[in-house]
This record gives sequence, structure tokens and C-alpha cells, in this order.
Amino acid sequence: MRKAFAPQVSIVTGGASGIGKAIAAELVGRGSHVVVADLDLAAARATAQELGSRASAVELDVVDAAAVRAVVDAVVAEHGRLDVMVNNAGVGLGGLLEELDERHWDKAIDVNLRGVVHGVTAAYAVMRTQRSGHILNTASLAGLIPAPSMLPYTTTKHAVVGLSTALRAEAAALGIRVSVLCPGFVDTPLLDSMYEAPASFGGSSVRSRVRMLQPRFLTAEHTARRAVDGLASDKAVIPVGFLAHVSWRALRYAPPLA
Ligand code: NAD
Repeated sequence: MRKAFAPQVSIVTGGASGIGKAIAAELVGRGSHVVVADLDLAAARATAQELGSRASAVELDVVDAAAVRAVVDAVVAEHGRLDVMVNNAGVGLGGLLEELDERHWDKAIDVNLRGVVHGVTAAYAVMRTQRSGHILNTASLAGLIPAPSMLPYTTTKHAVVGLSTALRAEAAALGIRVSVLCPGFVDTPLLDSMYEAPASFGGSSVRSRVRMLQPRFLTAEHTARRAVDGLASDKAVIPVGFLAHVSWRALRYAPPLA
């Protein structure tokens, strides 16, 4: 029989803002101590303070594998366990191929992909000894369907979906559950930073362009509730938002290509 979802200790990377902050709040609400790990220490501290005595803050750059390991090890040394690792830190990097150079690709791959790999690897090492734990990786709707003019973003998010779904079977054999969160557009600061090169939009604002694709943005709180419910019920892929559902179902039930 499946054990009830009652996490005691969780880490949320990119937990100081947007979706990560809302997931941290949701996990605190479910009784977990949550370590808010973020590049922005001041924002992480402010978030932890908002969340109350069951939250703490730590500075972390997920691009640095040794730093990610050190945070996970410190949390286990202090709390004796790690139940949930949310690899959520990410950057929005859009653009057409001709607008992009190595810097854009490196940044997206470093934060959105390597950052997740580092979190997965560090948490896995602890959870395999515990023989329990949940890993939740934040991808995107852009990890399920190709998002045009968001090349580095959609490339790295597809990779995160691939990593998460491919890892599930070997993780399950060790008592570790792996899920991947795939929301549509969520109203967070990330939307404003999506495009360094406004040329891709012919001058229109990112938000007005995005609204053409999805008229109503999701809220971080709604997304986080769905994420933690999906985690608790051990869903492999957690699509959030109408478009995300439709895309995922269409992909699942599409006949294989001839
Ligand atoms: P956000 O900008 O509100 O929050 C991102 C957080 O990550 C920030 O606190 C930032 O300081 C932190 N961060 C950035 N680089 C980091 C690094 N190297 N190490 C540690 N922390 C770092 O963005 P958000 O919209 O809440 O995005 C969170 C995740 O959700 C991202 O992975 C994003 O790709 C994904 N996502 C966002 C949307 C959306 O529409 N907002 C949709 C689908 C998926």
C-alpha cells in the first residue's frame, strides 16, 4: 500500500519567487519544514520569514554542482532526512535562432538543465540510502510541445521532461518518486525576462504576445497546489492549465509516426 504523503523536510530551489515560493508555501501548509534555496539570498530570507518558523533560507546557485550537494548534505545533517527535493530554479530564455548566441544557450542549459541534473543527483544520493523521497522537477508546457521563438527555453524544458520520465523506473525501484511539473504561462517575474531580444516580437510586449497564446495567466498559487497534489499522488507528468492538459493528452494518444 502507498504511504501517505507527509513530508517532513523539503528543499525548493528558486524558492524565493513565483512558482517556487508558492510550492514552498504549499509544502509548509502540509507540515513540512522547507528550505528556500535561491540565488537571491535576500529574497529567500524574506520568503522564509513570510512562511514562518517551518521555513529557512539558504543562498544557492544551482549551476554549481558542489554547492547543490553541500546544501543537500547540510539539510540532511541538520534535519536527519530529505523527503522532497523541488528542482524549480529556472530562467526564461526566448529568441529565434538568428538572435541567439553561445551566451544565451549556455545560460539556459546551465540553469534550466544542469541545475536540475545537479539537484536530482544530490537528492538521489540521499534518498537511495533512505529508500524514500520525492523529486519534483519544474519543466513547462514548453517541455511537452515545441514553443516557437523560445528555442533555448523549450530545448532545456524538453530535456527536463526527458530526464524526469526516463528516471522514474530506476528511481521507483529504490523507493524514490520522480515527477515533472509542466505549467502553461504563470503570472510571475519570469515572463518579463523571457526575451532579451524584443525583435522577436516586432516591438509588442512579452506579456501582450503571451496573452495571444494563453488569454488568462495561471497563478503561482494554483500551479503550486496542482504540483503538490500531483506529487502526493505520484503523477509522472503534472500538466497545469488547459493548454498543458490538451497538449499532453494529445501527445499521449497520438498515433506513432509512420
Ligand atoms: P521567477 O523568476 O518568479 O522565479 C525564479 C527563481 O529562481 C528566482 O527566485 C530566481 O532568483 C531563482 N534562480 C534563478 N537562477 C537561479 C540559479 N542559478 N540558482 C538558484 N536560483 C535561481 O520564475 P517562475 O516563473 O516562478 O519560474 C520557476 C520555474 O517555473 C522555472 O523553472 C520556470 O522555467 C518554470 N515555469 C515558469 C512558467 C511561467 O510562465 N512563469 C511556466 C512554466 C514553467
